[in-house]
Amino acid sequence: MSLGKASVHARKQKSLAKCHALTHAEAPEPSVRFNSAMQTPVLVLNASYEPINICGARRALVLVLKGVARTEEEQGAILHAARVRMPMPSVIRLLEYRRIPHQTRALSRKNILLRDRNTCQYCGVVLHSSELTLDHVVPRSRGGLSTWENLVACCHGCNRRKGNQLLHELKDMKLLREPRPFSLHTSRHIMRMIGHSDQKWRKYLYY
Ligand SMILES: [Zn+2]
Repeated sequence: MSLGKASVHARKQKSLAKCHALTHAEAPEPSVRFNSAMQTPVLVLNASYEPINICGARRALVLVLKGVARTEEEQGAILHAARVRMPMPSVIRLLEYRRIPHQTRALSRKNILLRDRNTCQYCGVVLHSSELTLDHVVPRSRGGLSTWENLVACCHGCNRRKGNQLLHELKDMKLLREPRPFSLHTSRHIMRMIGHSDQKWRKYLYY
């Protein structure tokens, strides 16, 4: 980074810091509205327009002010701060392409439940995370591994019923769908659900 660039960067950072300070110092009534706008989910697109993430409006504004991203769609609300007056983004796009590995999600209970959308993969009941367990499709006692392909969200009833048996040994139990690693496709589905209320996201999510 050249010196000139660095100082522009520093100035940008400074004005950002000010803008943040001001968001907290706003008068009580407007700040309520302001803060809720700051938490609005914003769709993040790669430079190629591929949706890659969702972040809060505050984070999106920082990326835009830093010159890392540009606003593609606006929320309608306007951010007023000392020297900043800008429309709140609804969709932003990164200016430089970022390579996104297709399987970035770690294998964890939380991510398995997210992939299975908190749905028991045997009976289809949708439950709160705390009421679900993870089931090894091929039981561990029979050599089943803890992998994306062998772990599914499961209600306690189905888990008890299945016990140590293999699926082909059970007549009335089968998987709703074949378990797969958490893919970009799954992430898109989640983005779609979150973005359901925002019409401006539609054209980027291929509804
Ligand atoms: Zn069940």
